[in-house]
Amino acid sequence: MSTAFLTHPDCLAHVTPPGPPERVARLEAILRRLDTPEFDGLLRVEAPLADLAQVARCHPRAYIDKIRAAVPAQGFAVLDADTHLSPGSFTAALRAVGANLKAVDMVLGGEAANAFAAVRPPGHHAETEVAMGFCLFGNVSIAARYALDHHGLARVAIMDFDVHHGNGTQDLLWDEPRVLFASTHQMPLYPGTGAAEERGAHGNVLNVPLPPMSGGARFRAEMERQVLPALDAFRPELVLISAGFDAHAADPLAQLQWHEADFAWATERLCDIADAHAGGKVVSTLEGGYDLDALAESAAAHVQVLMERGS
Ligand SMILES: [Zn+2]
Repeated sequence: MSTAFLTHPDCLAHVTPPGPPERVARLEAILRRLDTPEFDGLLRVEAPLADLAQVARCHPRAYIDKIRAAVPAQGFAVLDADTHLSPGSFTAALRAVGANLKAVDMVLGGEAANAFAAVRPPGHHAETEVAMGFCLFGNVSIAARYALDHHGLARVAIMDFDVHHGNGTQDLLWDEPRVLFASTHQMPLYPGTGAAEERGAHGNVLNVPLPPMSGGARFRAEMERQVLPALDAFRPELVLISAGFDAHAADPLAQLQWHEADFAWATERLCDIADAHAGGKVVSTLEGGYDLDALAESAAAHVQVLMERGS
């Protein structure tokens, strides 16, 4: 068995204007870094387009239609201060969802041990009817619902270690008792949600805010103290990861001061949870990360662990 690596050139056709840090060069940096001999063992898969019916697992049709209608024929459309559309954005967003669904199919179907979807736009800030924070559709939430309702799983865990709170995932799955959504994130920071008191309608949300400059040691301690015991008790049949790498010390958007080894450590621990309860099944998807070198190296460290654990 191997690690599936899902991406698509269409994800490079979601172009953003100069300024916002979520840009084509991010994915290019990851693709370059993973196009090296140490990653020859990856099972490389072209991400399919998601059907709109799949996106509608988490978003109303009217919202999906609104996003599609807002896509400009040329130039850029502005959804909010961070979130822009170019002519290729809707297709890219459907590839991002499609990569996650295909990854779930492959991992649950035994075609791959685990998977990483290198896609953009990211998804964890997209709320039910609000595009924000560079995100259009809730990629990881749609994957969770798909695993539950299409594949018939009973429990899916999502771990979000992006430096920003996954407000969108929390919104989309707030009332979903079959999902445990756990998030570590810097607070205070955009988008402002993610207090420990926000627990979901069924106690199915676990928010672990971390103070600026708290470093990888604090992250690991809170993972050991709060997140990993909760995931273990939940006994997920699939572990999804919202893998943002913007907690890195070099990242310009935040101050958590983590390093590549912290992302690798977290990946190991999440694979431990998956090994204990889910036959090792892990599907990870790219969220943030805005220093190109730190992003590429952190993603490489993450994928290396997936490959070691999946072999
Ligand atoms: Zn982020």
